[in-house]
Amino acid sequence: MIPKVKIILLAGPPGSGKGTQAQMLKEKFGLEMIQANRIVREKFETDPNDPEVIESKKAYDEGRLTDGKVLGKWLMQKMENVSKDVLNKGLILEGFARTPEEATITIQILKERTGLNQVRLFFIKISPEETLKRNLSRIICETCQKPINPDLIGKVEKCPYCGGELGKRAMDDKSVIETRLKVYNNETFPAIEYLKSLGIVIEINGEQSIEKVFEDIVSYL
Ligand SMILES: [Zn+2]
Repeated sequence: MIPKVKIILLAGPPGSGKGTQAQMLKEKFGLEMIQANRIVREKFETDPNDPEVIESKKAYDEGRLTDGKVLGKWLMQKMENVSKDVLNKGLILEGFARTPEEATITIQILKERTGLNQVRLFFIKISPEETLKRNLSRIICETCQKPINPDLIGKVEKCPYCGGELGKRAMDDKSVIETRLKVYNNETFPAIEYLKSLGIVIEINGEQSIEKVFEDIVSYL
């Protein structure tokens, strides 16, 4: 099955489940995926002495975002390796457009590659209270970094994807989460408003079961 939408962006506040939904879409349609967090982590490993990477690591540990221009540049490098075939089938971009600057660069790249009529951003909406609650109880795999479905917490001892050890993320303590929420309100919210003005944003109610959120997204594809 090939989705009608060729570039699927997933965004939402921390804890909205965008990573889980991205993974489910990837599996259902067999799509390639580019994740902002993964690009950043790859850079930590491959270029640890690059000044931009050092700054990005510092931001990450404090719950702030990588500079929009820098992440935009890294996305551009990734997109250069994405073939026409992949774009014809469909590509998932998860965790992008977190700052107005980064949103502008992302849109510029996508305009050149596919045109905006092929692009949709699914904005998974949850309340600030729900964000806090979900982040405080978040468990991820220490090996593959995938978040564990909250329904499985307490029922599985190892990562269902790779068998890795489960643990809380360094960034999931309360002060870091509060910083992330503040950053979200100050930077990501205006970025989403800008994307709305382009007519490419579809809002999804994120306070439903994972399956229902997925169903809602798929209904637009
Ligand atoms: Zn794993």
